[in-house]
Amino acid sequence: IEQSALQNDKLAMLGKIAAAIAHEIRNPLTSIRGFIQLLRPYLLEVGKEEYARIILTEIDRANDIIYEFLNSSKPSAPLKKATSVDGLIREVIMLTESEALLRNCEITFESLEPDAFIAVDVKQVKQVMLNMVKNALDAVEEVRSDRRGSIHISLSSDGQYVEFKIKDNGKGMDKAVMNRLFDPFFTTKQAGTGLGLSVSYRIIRNHGGTIRVDSREGCGTEFIIYLPLAE
Ligand code: ADP
Repeated sequence: IEQSALQNDKLAMLGKIAAAIAHEIRNPLTSIRGFIQLLRPYLLEVGKEEYARIILTEIDRANDIIYEFLNSSKPSAPLKKATSVDGLIREVIMLTESEALLRNCEITFESLEPDAFIAVDVKQVKQVMLNMVKNALDAVEEVRSDRRGSIHISLSSDGQYVEFKIKDNGKGMDKAVMNRLFDPFFTTKQAGTGLGLSVSYRIIRNHGGTIRVDSREGCGTEFIIYLPLAE
């Protein structure tokens, strides 16, 4: 799936605007958050604590959007450093392990290229991998629990590119979702920002790589990321 140039321009422009105003929006959000917390006991008294919870959740979502924009508006030329892909993946698995445990999901990793190095901006590529694992965790959680959630990650190489695959047995996607997957702001989640994949796409492209996706509704999804091997 190719993301159009228009989508990229749109994202880059929105990112710039967000970077410029994020600071001004964050300050009032922080004070709103504080005052809502002060109001909580009063809302509790009248049996309306739910309102506080909703407001806080929505404020946090606004903050998430600003945060992801800021990340996506970083200079497009990534800060490249030779990095072990195997090491990077293990770090991401470590970071998501407790979340996986909570959701009764097993993450497995098959490394066929433990010595492969890629020249990448570690922070950016880690963000992409985290996005992928988090999406997979969300997808397996939405499946009625007659089967255990599983996420299988594998790493291989064809001598030119590393191939990072992440396969889940989650809810999968229909055609309509597949078509809009990489659009900025497209989300099917109640608290989603719809920025994870559009930002990931941009990061991988800026590293000279590509993303492919294969999915079956009700069965699961596989994302495949190709990144050039370091010289
Ligand atoms: P968000 O996670 O905030 O919704 P993303 O850009 O990361 O934003 O994802 C966009 C949409 O793509 C998700 O809302 C979901 O519908 C779909 N999606 C992404 N990854 C998966 C997956 N592994 N399985 C099923 N659907 C997915």
